[in-house]
Amino acid sequence: MRGVIDYRIARRALVREVTRGVVPLTEVCDAHPELLRAARNVGQPTARTCPICRLADDRADVPLDENSTLRVVTYVFGDDLRRLSGHVVWTPEELDALAARHRSFTAYRVECCLVCGWHHLMESFLLGRAYAG
Ligand SMILES: [Zn+2]
Repeated sequence: MRGVIDYRIARRALVREVTRGVVPLTEVCDAHPELLRAARNVGQPTARTCPICRLADDRADVPLDENSTLRVVTYVFGDDLRRLSGHVVWTPEELDALAARHRSFTAYRVECCLVCGWHHLMESFLLGRAYAG
């Protein structure tokens, strides 16, 4: 993958701010209804736990839910995609097919919690024929 940008450091910093009460929950748990719908219907499950749900469970002293409520949704953006720009990709196979058909575009992976509405960009990367081989 080319042009990978990892947003984990920004994510960690934001979670820290929420923990310290600098950033209110309402500002980080405000996933758009369309993102929530995509997360519920086509989001890929992940082994990670939602940092905000974990925070709430820690404070309430309840055990962590075993099933992660986090889902990962992949969006693609780029002029080469034309009307597909901004489209949610359902499967890795669909992403591969787009990469084979288009010259260049950017994929964004966003994590979204089905319970609290937390969402954060995880990583972005370049795909397309321009970067193949
Ligand atoms: Zn959550």
